[in-house]
Amino acid sequence: MPLNIPETDTPRIVIVGGGFAGLALIRALRRTPYQLVLIDKHNYHMFKPLLYQVASSALNVGDIAFPFRKMFQGWKNLYFRMAYIEGVDPVGQRLSTTLGNIRYDMLVLATGCVPNFFGIETIQRNALAMSNITDALNIRNRVLRNFEIAVTAASEAERISRLNVVIVGAGASGVEIAGALSEMRRYVMPRDYPRLDISHMHIYLIEGQSRVLPAMTPRTSEQALEVLHRKGIQVMLNRKVVDWKESHVVFEDGETIPTYNLIWTSGIKCSSIPGLERAAGRRGARLQVDAFNRVEGFDRLFAIGDVALMHADPAFPNGHPQLARVAISQGQLLARNLRTLLQNVPQPKASAAIDNASAATQPTETPSLTRFRYHNYGVLATVGRNRAFFEWKKIQFGGFFAWMTWSLVHIMFLLGIQGKLKVFWGWVWNYFGHDLPIRLMIGSYERQRREDGNEGA
Ligand SMILES: Cc1cc2nc3c(=O)[nH]c(=O)nc-3n(C[C@H](O)[C@H](O)[C@H](O)COP(=O)(O)OP(=O)(O)OC[C@H]3O[C@@H](n4cnc5c(N)ncnc54)[C@H](O)[C@@H]3O)c2cc1C
Repeated sequence: MPLNIPETDTPRIVIVGGGFAGLALIRALRRTPYQLVLIDKHNYHMFKPLLYQVASSALNVGDIAFPFRKMFQGWKNLYFRMAYIEGVDPVGQRLSTTLGNIRYDMLVLATGCVPNFFGIETIQRNALAMSNITDALNIRNRVLRNFEIAVTAASEAERISRLNVVIVGAGASGVEIAGALSEMRRYVMPRDYPRLDISHMHIYLIEGQSRVLPAMTPRTSEQALEVLHRKGIQVMLNRKVVDWKESHVVFEDGETIPTYNLIWTSGIKCSSIPGLERAAGRRGARLQVDAFNRVEGFDRLFAIGDVALMHADPAFPNGHPQLARVAISQGQLLARNLRTLLQNVPQPKASAAIDNASAATQPTETPSLTRFRYHNYGVLATVGRNRAFFEWKKIQFGGFFAWMTWSLVHIMFLLGIQGKLKVFWGWVWNYFGHDLPIRLMIGSYERQRREDGNEGA
């Protein structure tokens, strides 16, 4: 099946992935003569930093997901196709997708990352990841469903395992969802379930390293730990989860915790792309790129955002942190560099693939491109209402002011005025009403019934 993109004489830039990196690139290329083709497996851009708020019933899906076709209304040079990438032929300059093949003049991979279950099959099958909208809805559905089951549980042991939540990974995402669920336990569930003994609900936050928020400074980790304790979250450090069996999380030392709500925020990896195996580094199969985000060994192939691993930035010799700001900056800079490149590089005829293999595989001399340097804009993490932590170089602060900063930054980066207003209003409502109002279980009843009896219901 063809992708149905018209052939033209103007260079075609194919972008796979409309996340932070891909979108920043496309927006910066809006007023250029190039033909832009966006391929994404979803029909929307998602604002991942607020996924946990969908998972914890604070926000609607529509508050953090934005349809591409609406975004690109009126764009003359952009074609969107909803498809999965299946492989790349960098020599023939062709991309294979589930809709068919497409020729490119420049290809940009911005496919991000997926959760890493470290090969533990039972966990992959039963744990709830938090990497996309479906994951966030699955968490919301499962936690709420297990509350309903707990109401009629036949035994105390069953009730406890339905109410317990175990979160593996105490990075920013783990800490954020733990904080949000502790709020649900404190303010919302006692009102919704007045006859359920909420003290049976324990929230465990498990971390393999020696501190929470390991990407931040030890001082922030200590303060965050204190806040988590105050919120009644049971933090277990230096612990490794190795299995999930008979509704129990199993640790390396054999200890177990009963739970039907296992949330996995421990680690990410990149999906390998057929055709690019030799460009994939060892660490999570990120694609090795040079200082211009060009995939090493290929002229017209670029990777930006989480999927790219760059060693050329002296401040980040082991690669950049996988953050939205890095992805956006790389997308914006690549737009500039692509313009320079396309002005300097002779284009093949629209219908012909490059027949000179060495031209495609050997990087040509680089015209005056700008090297990527990441300017650290600071790191933020929140632990429920009124509490967040901010670090920027030597500046560190936590508490209410950091929480306000966190809220403002997230509102600022959301797309569109309408999106910003909706989220802002939602937060004000939730804050003063102590509410998490989107407590809706969406999905088929039959499927839920099936899952109730399963391992990971
Ligand atoms: C729960 C969570 C919370 C986070 N919180 C923060 C935060 O607070 N601050 C921060 O800076 N960063 C945060 N991050 C990290 C940040 O979201 C990523 O660094 C950022 O999304 C990377 O952007 P990207 O464009 O590289 O990838 P993504 O934003 O992941 O976009 C990838 C796109 O590619 C598409 N895609 C993937 N595979 C394929 C395929 N095979 N075929 C077609 N399309 C495909 C996807 O549908 C998606 O649209 C968080 C991440 C998560 C998961």
